Amino acid sequence: MKISDITQHLELVAPVHFQESYDNAGLIVGNADVECTGIIISLDAIEAVIDEAISKQCNLVIAHHPIIFKGLNKLNGKNYVERTILKAIKNDIAIYAIHTNLDNIKMGVNNKIAEKIGLQNLQILQPKENILKKLITFAPLDKAEGIRKALFAAGAGQLGKYSECSFNTEGTGTFKAEKGADPHVGEIGVRHEEKEIKLEVIFPAYIEQRIISAMIEAHPYEEVAYDIISLGNYLSEVGSGLIGELENEANETEFLGKIKSDFGLKVIRHTSLAGKKVKKVAVCGGAGSYLIPIALSNKADVYITSDIKYHEFFDAEGMLMLDIGHYESEQFTIDLLYAILREKYPNFAVRKTEVITNPVYYFVE
Ligand SMILES: [Zn+2]
Repeated sequence: MKISDITQHLELVAPVHFQESYDNAGLIVGNADVECTGIIISLDAIEAVIDEAISKQCNLVIAHHPIIFKGLNKLNGKNYVERTILKAIKNDIAIYAIHTNLDNIKMGVNNKIAEKIGLQNLQILQPKENILKKLITFAPLDKAEGIRKALFAAGAGQLGKYSECSFNTEGTGTFKAEKGADPHVGEIGVRHEEKEIKLEVIFPAYIEQRIISAMIEAHPYEEVAYDIISLGNYLSEVGSGLIGELENEANETEFLGKIKSDFGLKVIRHTSLAGKKVKKVAVCGGAGSYLIPIALSNKADVYITSDIKYHEFFDAEGMLMLDIGHYESEQFTIDLLYAILREKYPNFAVRKTEVITNPVYYFVE
């Protein structure tokens, strides 16, 4: 099995197109065509993890955080990023990052957090915009079903929990085949009228080429007429954060105690307790202060995230907000990636890192 087989599978689960614009997910170091000897999963691909990969003869490190994030101008080992890259290259270790694309899928990083807390009725907190497109094409009546099937098989027509969604209207198309054409129906030089179906389907923008190829392949016309339209719609299955409900409402201190033990925390930074009950909980693994207004407008009783700055605590406007630590909030992402890979490759050497990569310590004695 090649490294590319593994990364392709991961990208089926969490397409790189779902990453944020500032991100750098994907294969960061290494040759995708090389045979994979084993996988180490980690939140951070730092030197100690590369050392671990070398000692365990695994030539692929899959990390949540991209080790190269803002680009590199020099590569001479002056900082931990450069030393990690140099060590990986020298030892033929590939580094792959699956970052905001794994955050942004419904079954990703935040789902794992929600699962730990026991949240139900989960919804994406801030669905992603501008990632849907619509295809409209015109097909003769007896060929419409074949085209529809081909489009669905290529991934069009998915809408939340529904598949094979399309809209169809009947009308009349006209065309005149010019000299040299080879029309499916009609004669050269005569305007032809054909009863047609106007077929409309939506699809995620990143599979546009696949959708167009499937349509052309299934379409009987020599020149296929079609429109591609960019949509402003949200895709409810993709985006930042999650919001859900506890099965039973809890009081604030009970809830804080539960989070502390579920996530193995030494300390929780939080806004003041208001003596309210907790039922609706919003979560965002990693740096999630940008979602404070969204959690508020969704009437979350609690928002759990990390990397909240002093002034951002004021922005909570009375909502209970918890900063549980960046590493701590994302720690179960390692289990998530492990489960994804184990399910696909039950007999392959997939390992969770034994290195605690968290650079933050708490002095609590
Ligand atoms: Zn993170």
